[in-house]
Amino acid sequence: MQIFFHPEQLKHCPQSYYSRGKMRQPQEKPERMHELLKAIEQLSLTVKTAKDFGTKPLLDVHTLGYIDFLKNAYSEWKQLPEDWGDEVLSNVFIRENNREIGVLAKAAKYLADGSAPIGQHTWTSTYWSAQTALSCADALLSQKEQCIIGLTRPAGHHARKDGAGGFCYINNAAVIAQYLRQHFKRIAIIDTDMHHGQGIQEIFYDRSDVLYVSVHGDPTNFYPVVAGFADEYGTGSGYGYNKNFPMPHGSSEETFFKFLDQAVDYVQTYQPDIVIHVMGFDIYVDDPQAKCSVSTAGFAQVAEKIKSIGVPTISLIEGGYCIEKLGENFKSFLKGFGIHPASQHEQNQQQVLVELE
Ligand SMILES: [Zn+2]
Repeated sequence: MQIFFHPEQLKHCPQSYYSRGKMRQPQEKPERMHELLKAIEQLSLTVKTAKDFGTKPLLDVHTLGYIDFLKNAYSEWKQLPEDWGDEVLSNVFIRENNREIGVLAKAAKYLADGSAPIGQHTWTSTYWSAQTALSCADALLSQKEQCIIGLTRPAGHHARKDGAGGFCYINNAAVIAQYLRQHFKRIAIIDTDMHHGQGIQEIFYDRSDVLYVSVHGDPTNFYPVVAGFADEYGTGSGYGYNKNFPMPHGSSEETFFKFLDQAVDYVQTYQPDIVIHVMGFDIYVDDPQAKCSVSTAGFAQVAEKIKSIGVPTISLIEGGYCIEKLGENFKSFLKGFGIHPASQHEQNQQQVLVELE
């Protein structure tokens, strides 16, 4: 197993966000990554530094105007009067036919909601998050790795073709699905984050070469609110290649796995060449975003079920905001892929024995 990350991803540090009628304290903090990195260190695993693949793979999924906005919005914003806030956030909500004159008009167009503020380092971290995902794709192609993990922060599955939202800016899963299409005919994306990945759905909605299957909380009054319902099947030649399993709020762990089994079965029927797994730890019972109650032990089962599809897999880490349990839950997830402290200890022992011989 290989795990990819880039230290620049730690720099993005949102100060606030706007959701459900209130300005809120950020949940998507750099500390989340510190917890995952700590867990990796405790297991004596190594993290590979992401390589740079440039912006071209990002532009195969997102519009040029949108990428330019992500890159330059903060510096344009900072040239405005001092009483403007420290982060780019829109208070105007018209995305269509927007003339894009001035950074606030651009923010209105390219920020799809109030939960994707742009600060000084947002673009840098977002860029490297996408490069982390692309490094996973590259490892799958060049080293024939069966199971790869990308610590992709900021996350990506809510990012639209031309809109940031839900803590997401670049749609990492969509970027690598498109990138890997040069080498594989059929790609399945399975999303087990608490929230529906409406950005991925939108990008591949009319295509049959990339299947999107998601298990998530019922979007009625729950993010992303406007998409993720069971009757969204895809359109044109993409009809049937989009499958949503919205769970009732307050679902038990058993209910979650009942839906996940159906989702895995749908993916298996498609017979993909590879699987991209959008992994969220916000399905954890004590997560502030949870609408279901998956236990720490349950994350090992999630990994086992993804592994059971039986094709090379890239897992991209998305949500998960119960910071004090994130490390433990991540270790459980790795255990499901066959990595746990005991096996690592045994490996070290074997190494010592070899050296002694
Ligand atoms: Zn989520």
